[in-house]
Amino acid sequence: MIRPAIIIVDMLNDFVTGKLRAERATNVIAPLQQLVAAARKCSVPVIFSNDAHYPQDCEITQKWDQHAIKGTPGAEVISELAPDLTKDYIVEKRTYSGFYETGLDSLLRDLYKGEGAKTVILGGLHTHMCVRHTAADAFFRGYHIIIAKEGVDAFTEQDHKQGLEYLEKVYGAKILTIEEISKTFKH
Ligand code: ZN
Repeated sequence: MIRPAIIIVDMLNDFVTGKLRAERATNVIAPLQQLVAAARKCSVPVIFSNDAHYPQDCEITQKWDQHAIKGTPGAEVISELAPDLTKDYIVEKRTYSGFYETGLDSLLRDLYKGEGAKTVILGGLHTHMCVRHTAADAFFRGYHIIIAKEGVDAFTEQDHKQGLEYLEKVYGAKILTIEEISKTFKH
């Protein structure tokens, strides 16, 4: 795959053990640990795309209760996947898409000595919401999209399955296992 970058979406305390906890969220922790370890080993950039809300954000006033409020423990990446601050990147967001009014696109374009990442590999929560909207914005900007099969999940099996189908059908996303993804990384 061409110039990949990993994007780990919303693996935050509030989504795993806190206010908007999904029972199924724990399923993706070990697979994502493997993915991130393989990436770091091969110098594939790892980006954490994290909700960091203000209480006034539309998501909170119009749809969800308070979650992942900027600066609170609920908005921190779970300890099992703690970013390596010497090499990983953290890009905060205020709604579903990791691209919407954030620095994610310019970061991706600066990677690989300015050649830019060309492929985004998405993992995290939730398949049908933040992963889907981040994939949409990646598609609009011309990135190839890979979904880490065991590395994404949602509140229910139905949300997850429909989410995956949509990603494939609408954005041409490839759904690959973490083993398949890791094999493509160059040592
Ligand atoms: Zn949110």
